[in-house]
Amino acid sequence: MHMPRFDVYVPQDLNDALSFLDERGEEAIPLAGGTDLLTLIRAGVVKPKILLDLWPLRKNLSYIRREGGYVRIGALTTVDEVLANYLFRDSRYLGFIDAARGLGPTFLRSIATIGGNVATGHPLSDMAILLLALKAEVKFVSRHGERRVSIDEIYLDKRKIDRRPNELIAEVAFREKPMSSSTAVLKIDRRRGHSMGYVVSASYMALEGDVITDVGIAFDSLGKPYPGRAYRTEEFLIGRRFSEDTIAESSKVLELEMTRLSDYRAPAEYRLSLSKTLLKKCLLLVSQRIKEELMHG
Ligand SMILES: Cc1cc2nc3c(=O)[nH]c(=O)nc-3n(C[C@H](O)[C@H](O)[C@H](O)COP(=O)(O)OP(=O)(O)OC[C@H]3O[C@@H](n4cnc5c(N)ncnc54)[C@H](O)[C@@H]3O)c2cc1C
Repeated sequence: MHMPRFDVYVPQDLNDALSFLDERGEEAIPLAGGTDLLTLIRAGVVKPKILLDLWPLRKNLSYIRREGGYVRIGALTTVDEVLANYLFRDSRYLGFIDAARGLGPTFLRSIATIGGNVATGHPLSDMAILLLALKAEVKFVSRHGERRVSIDEIYLDKRKIDRRPNELIAEVAFREKPMSSSTAVLKIDRRRGHSMGYVVSASYMALEGDVITDVGIAFDSLGKPYPGRAYRTEEFLIGRRFSEDTIAESSKVLELEMTRLSDYRAPAEYRLSLSKTLLKKCLLLVSQRIKEELMHG
């Protein structure tokens, strides 16, 4: 096995990268941490002519900040930087700590980026699944301007996102959530640190008293070969009182809207059963986090 030959363009800055993509976007593939892309190149699945090295853009695109009522994460921010950031100690955003701690082996987290996780378009993209539950938006930039798209609209097919050849993902952002809310990500895996879980689920929920005022439920797949939100389950939950009975009812709704696929790793029925279990566990964990924050502040 050998690495095929290809060129690598190393831009000076974001403008340089976008100018390059404007001219050569059709033949160039952006490379962030490379933890996904380089394995595909090595396996011969992707055969690049040119790689556009995004690492020099970390000076522009590696940040986590609160601004204008939004939490904004630069696309070149690494998973380790998420783990180290105080913002994700906020009980509302503990889902980021779940997702980051479960993402791949430790060494990988220092180079795997959030933008790369969103852009892989692979179902088992832990950060992207959490960002779906948070109803985040993705900011694409090109030399001609920017466009912001809701993350649930960017996935077109397995490993295919709605990115134009001259665009890069610059940022993901989501609205600050209310105080009485929290997030959780759970995944069932063969062993810790193994690349791919069988099922990954993320939940965001806001409560007023015990009434669910907002909710986001996402999975690695609901039948399509990319991650997505369980819209009908979300609709069912909004406005109801949070209780074990409500969760049990919501898992019946999930069963109606979710199709699971079998592969050599797990049969569909097993994945569906795991999905219902994770829905329940995630929502219970979120409600526990909200209660703990109310009690201990
Ligand atoms: C051993 C191993 C274990 C793994 N475990 C997990 C896991 O547990 N959970 C998980 O979710 N993933 C896992 N992965 C997959 C991968 O590490 C993550 O998806 C990671 O976040 C990808 O980020 P990256 O910066 O390395 O992306 P890259 O590999 O550089 O790029 C991935 C894709 O995104 C595109 N891209 C990257 N950045 C941008 C941008 N800014 N704009 C436009 N397109 C862009 C690239 O062109 C490419 O198509 C694992 C991978 C390996 C090899």
